[in-house]
This record gives sequence, structure tokens and C-alpha cells, in this order.
Amino acid sequence: MADLLVFSEQDQVAFELLSKARDLGSPAAALLGKANADDYFAYGAQQVYIGEDARLRDFHADVYADALAQIVQASQATVVLIGSTKRGKELAGRLAQKLGCGAVTDAIGLETQDGKITARRYALGGNTIASDAITSERQVIAVMPRTFEATPQPASGKTVRVDLKLRDPRVKIIERKPKPAATANIESAENLVVVGKGFGKQEDLAIAELFAQALRGEIGCTRALAADYHWLGEERIVGISGKKCKPRLMISVGVSGQIQHTVGVLGAKLIVAINKDKSAPIFKIADYGLVGDLYQVVPRLTEKLKK
Ligand SMILES: Cc1cc2nc3c(=O)[nH]c(=O)nc-3n(C[C@H](O)[C@H](O)[C@H](O)COP(=O)(O)OP(=O)(O)OC[C@H]3O[C@@H](n4cnc5c(N)ncnc54)[C@H](O)[C@@H]3O)c2cc1C
Repeated sequence: MADLLVFSEQDQVAFELLSKARDLGSPAAALLGKANADDYFAYGAQQVYIGEDARLRDFHADVYADALAQIVQASQATVVLIGSTKRGKELAGRLAQKLGCGAVTDAIGLETQDGKITARRYALGGNTIASDAITSERQVIAVMPRTFEATPQPASGKTVRVDLKLRDPRVKIIERKPKPAATANIESAENLVVVGKGFGKQEDLAIAELFAQALRGEIGCTRALAADYHWLGEERIVGISGKKCKPRLMISVGVSGQIQHTVGVLGAKLIVAINKDKSAPIFKIADYGLVGDLYQVVPRLTEKLKK
């Protein structure tokens, strides 16, 4: 019997959750459509429940929720931790409906209060953090990727194969088209130049690109530049709806510094902000601030760096 059951379709996210779950109780893990149990034991899973079925080859939220519900019953887990990925969020809601319990998604922290796990989440558009407790006995909590660090701690657990009874998926996949490959990995960048709406037009981003090249860094951006203007790919968005980054150096250029954005860079070691408005909120989190017009400041900094 397990207190907590961990599942994510992404192994790395499941390892992060297992690492945290070890502090909260005795964790088990669920594997659907794959059987790499040893990797999960390495992160402290005491049992690994394996469900194998041809219907689990592709991700169908309805089938996965059905399979996971059967594994929850087999494990008798009271808390189910799911990775709050796009798929995980849909899965969490469907699973909770099947189990007749409450669910929260996008958790950014877990705590124990009066013997019950509570989930911390951004509320009011990211302006505050709420602590949510699920009142049903069983809880489904989807936690944002990279909230916890994955730290191995091997356990000698046992594998349990669950005989699943699944229906065919309700959606038939007719065709798959690959998404254009992501061109950036801003999460692992040591130096990150983050651009915002201070740039007046797309061509002007060349200024930031030369700057980033001189720093041997990557370019990240605020949500507007990718999601509204489509000047950059969405994989470059920094913040609550994008990526959380921990660069050594983050230089923010023409970014106002709204909370939904800055939560993505609070782990940066050194933050430098360039903005023409001296009262821009970004200066509150910056270690160094440069008040000035980016069109004048950034090319001069690039020249200095090249020298
Ligand atoms: C639920 C929710 C989720 C969100 N998630 C995200 C998220 O994940 N990531 C994100 O980034 N945003 C997110 N947002 C949007 C966020 O609230 C802000 O609107 C956004 O971050 C602002 O982008 P910006 O700084 O580029 O633009 P603005 O706020 O318009 O700021 C532009 C800045 O550029 C400066 N500037 C202008 N011209 C120059 C110049 N020539 N030189 C120097 N400085 C100049 C201005 O002084 C200003 O401070 C979210 C919002 C909501 C409601």
C-alpha cells in the first residue's frame, strides 16, 4: 500500500515528483505503456505499478485516466501526484472525476498541514500565492515541471503488474504532423537575454541577437513577443505560462517586469535590467539596473563585449 502515487508521461518530471514525495510519505509510481521500473526505483519508488496495453501506446487522456484510476485503486494511494504538463493537466481533471475526488493543477509547491497535503499555486493572475487544500479524502495534485529537483535515492521496491480493463480511445488519430523543432533551450542557458515589448518591431530583435551572441547566450522573451506578435517561438517565453530559467546571468531588455513574467527568472544568479522607465517593476528584482533607451544602450554594450 502506498500513500502517494506519482505519474507523469515524462520520466524526468516523475523523478522530480518522486524526490519530493519521499518527504511526504511512502511513494509509489505508475508506468503506463512502458516498463523502465528500475529508473523509478532509483528515485525512491517503493512500488512501481505497470500497466501495459496496446491502447496506451499513444496518449489519449480518456484511456490514460481510466488506466490510472485502476492503478490508484490497486495501490490504494490517497494522494496522486501528476506532472502538470499540458497532458498531465487534462489527465488530472479526468482522473479526479473518475475517482470522485478533488484536483488542483499548476501547483508550485507542496506542504503538509494537519496531516493533509496542501498545494501552493499562483492566484489572481500571478499576483499572489494561494494554498489550496482538497477536502475529499483522496487528492489529485498536478505539479509544475521543475518545481522540485530530481535527486536519486535508490529504493529496493517491487514491481506490480496491473491487469487493466480498457476501452478503445474515443479519438482516432488520422495524421500526425511534426511541430517545427524547438530552436532554443532557454532553461539550460548560462547567459540569457530576455526581450520584451520595448522592441518596436521584429527586425529590431537583431540588436538583441548580436548582444546575445557576444554573451554566448540565448534569447528568451515575454509572452507578448511570442504568443501575440509571433516574432519568436513559444519555447522562448519566460514566466508562468512559459519556462522557468536559472541562468548565471539574465539581462532583461525592454521588459516591464510583471509578476507573471518574473516568476520565470527568480532563480537567476545575477539580473541586469535595461529599461527607459526608471519606475519599471523589473528594477525591483534586478541586481543592476540601466535606465536608458535600449536602441542606444544595447549596441554600445555589444561593442564593448566584442572588444
Ligand atoms: C495569466 C497570465 C499569465 C501570463 N504569463 C506570462 C508569462 O509567462 N510570461 C510573460 O512574459 N508574460 C506573461 N503574462 C503577461 C504579463 O502580465 C505582462 O503583460 C508581460 O510580461 C509584459 O510584457 P513586456 O514586459 O514585454 O511588455 P510591457 O509591459 O509593455 O513592457 C515594455 C517595457 O519596455 C520598456 N521600453 C519601451 N521602449 C523602450 C526602449 N526604447 N528602451 C528601453 N525600454 C523600453 C517600457 O518602459 C516597458 O517597461 C501573463 C499574463 C497573465 C494575465
